[in-house]
Amino acid sequence: MGQMALHAQPGLDSFAAAGGDPLALSREGWGALLQSWGWERFHGFQAFRALHRRHLASWDEAREVPRRLREQLENRLPIIWPVIDERFISGDGTVRSLLRLKDGEHVEAVFLPDEVFEGPAGLKRRRTTLCISSQAGCPVNCQFCLTALLGLRRNLGAGEIAGQVLTLVHEHGLRRGTGPCDRLNVVYMGMGEPMLNYEAVMQSVRLLCDDEGLALPPRRVTISTAGIVEKIRRFGTEPVRPRLAISLNASSEDQRQALMPIHRGQGGFAALLAAAREFPLAKRERLTFEYVLLAGINDTDADAGRLLQLLQGIRAKVNLIPWNQGPELSWQTPSPERVQGFQARLLAGGLPAFVRRPRGLDVFAACGQLSRRRAGAYTINMQSP
Ligand code: SAH
Repeated sequence: MGQMALHAQPGLDSFAAAGGDPLALSREGWGALLQSWGWERFHGFQAFRALHRRHLASWDEAREVPRRLREQLENRLPIIWPVIDERFISGDGTVRSLLRLKDGEHVEAVFLPDEVFEGPAGLKRRRTTLCISSQAGCPVNCQFCLTALLGLRRNLGAGEIAGQVLTLVHEHGLRRGTGPCDRLNVVYMGMGEPMLNYEAVMQSVRLLCDDEGLALPPRRVTISTAGIVEKIRRFGTEPVRPRLAISLNASSEDQRQALMPIHRGQGGFAALLAAAREFPLAKRERLTFEYVLLAGINDTDADAGRLLQLLQGIRAKVNLIPWNQGPELSWQTPSPERVQGFQARLLAGGLPAFVRRPRGLDVFAACGQLSRRRAGAYTINMQSP
């Protein structure tokens, strides 16, 4: 099997682009690949399920697959999962994991156990959110974010992105049907700008939403962007299309330009909000706008008023995120009263607004704090000696 055979097969492009990572290959791609090796399509589907449904550590464990095929797979496409190097466990139950990729690069992913909630017929159900990274580091230089200080180290492949979810699902015992989790949400809100690693991010979404894999409903997946306009428009046309969140964070051109230098290059509010206004929402779907509240910078009632103006005509909701501190950064977090006041002003203007409660602050797991930092309140070193 040479590269020629790979390139001749549709659906294998992302696989080839990801350097032949078996975790990046779609179910259809698996079928085509194993056919090109002289096996049946269904053997490929078995391989896909072994990875995405069962999280097998090695091909040797895939007993449903013929032995000769297991050997071929082990030789040609060994499975390399992201490895949890360290875990930082917050007093609130949030767990930040430092994951090592196969080239030694690290990314972070966060497990956010949510409270029990009342499901249909009064049944108690549990909701869990996983927050994952799309790049190692980040090239978008947001002035209030710790990840920005890393710069971009590299893009992640689709298998490395989906692999974070699968590893955490396995680690925290969230497997569908067997685990305690009734509802799993995945948010692309960790390190990196998803829309600047578009192909790999969308491929990872398709992998996670595949019926024969984890089978996540796309509406339980949220992609958050600093506002890459051209990619927002393209995202709107995707057949498997998660929810969209836009990190707005400012109420005037000058403010946003200062806080998020990427703003001007994207055509300012006019271009960004036109894309938002034209975004094809499903019935009852809302666009989410995130707004980091920085004391004395963007948290006044006048800011709230301008925000209402900007979002006029968009079926939107706003998530207010009081700034989470980072030692290298010198912004201030507004008082709870100011946060409430800001929220009240939006609500009075008819805009649904929620205050995002910080999670995992004590272990640097909260929004904007992911930076491969080793300090944490309670540290469990998972690295074997
Ligand atoms: N690059 C994408 C994905 C990261 S999501 C994006 O910008 O949307 C991370 C969210 O946390 C963004 O909404 C960002 O604005 C916010 N954020 C960044 N630093 C923060 C901080 N220190 N405190 C609170 N929120 C922060």
